[in-house]
Amino acid sequence: MPEGPEVETVRRGLLPVVGTKILEVKVADHKKYRPQRAEIEALEGTTITDITRRGKFMVFYFEGNSRKAALNHLGMTGVWYHYSDQVWNEFDVPFEEYPHWKVYFGLDDNTHLLFVNTRTFGRFEMFTPEEIEEHKSIRTLGPDILDDEFDTDEFVKRMLGRGKSRIKEVGKCLLDYTIVAGCGNIYKSESLFLAKINPFTPANQLSENQLRELAKRLTEVGKKALRFQGSSLRDYRMVDGYSGLMQNEFNAYDRAGDPCSVCTTPILKATQGDRSSFWCPSCQDNFVIS
Ligand SMILES: [Zn+2]
Repeated sequence: MPEGPEVETVRRGLLPVVGTKILEVKVADHKKYRPQRAEIEALEGTTITDITRRGKFMVFYFEGNSRKAALNHLGMTGVWYHYSDQVWNEFDVPFEEYPHWKVYFGLDDNTHLLFVNTRTFGRFEMFTPEEIEEHKSIRTLGPDILDDEFDTDEFVKRMLGRGKSRIKEVGKCLLDYTIVAGCGNIYKSESLFLAKINPFTPANQLSENQLRELAKRLTEVGKKALRFQGSSLRDYRMVDGYSGLMQNEFNAYDRAGDPCSVCTTPILKATQGDRSSFWCPSCQDNFVIS
């Protein structure tokens, strides 16, 4: 699933469409998009004024329409493609005949924007900008791993607070967007590896220094992933169709059985919640049974 660095890479790839006017809108006849179809189609004639990112969401802002913002989540497999007119016209069949497209915008700079979502966990929903700020998924976001001024104090507070309740293993806490935003399963494993913290350690058994180290590693991993334009394991692609390269940099994620890059002990993999965790049992051996 795309995490913060992948979504930010897509957002940056989409920035050339900011300032363009939408001349044509098409929305797939899919049950998830049908209720909003008329509202999305009403974007015809409006201008895209900004695209921002909040955690793993992108927010599209429009001018000239009464409900002027769209909340977009890529879900597991969502991809935005931005095509020049020349490339677009070279397609053998109209895009409507390809499976899984969801939203199409024809733009006044003769480019074409297409949102494709194979498994329909993604979304493109219309709101007002105020409604988006109040949306539960946005309002409750924790500090963002890509934020230049990552709020470490707030992160520590949220980790310790949540560590006492239902979700308490640090590996689970890092997937909770109300504790930290923009981190998913990949960057969870990578940052815990660098911080030398076992994913199964209860968060409230970590010292403040360990949590501060983890915060530092989260932002380090996030920024590195952004430099490598994200991790392309399955579906994630940039808007020009190219893959990111961060998957070549993994220390732990997807490396079960490989020797640890620090101590050569084989990397382990186990299920944690309904996701996988990868770690070095030697470098990350601080698991304490609560
Ligand atoms: Zn190791």
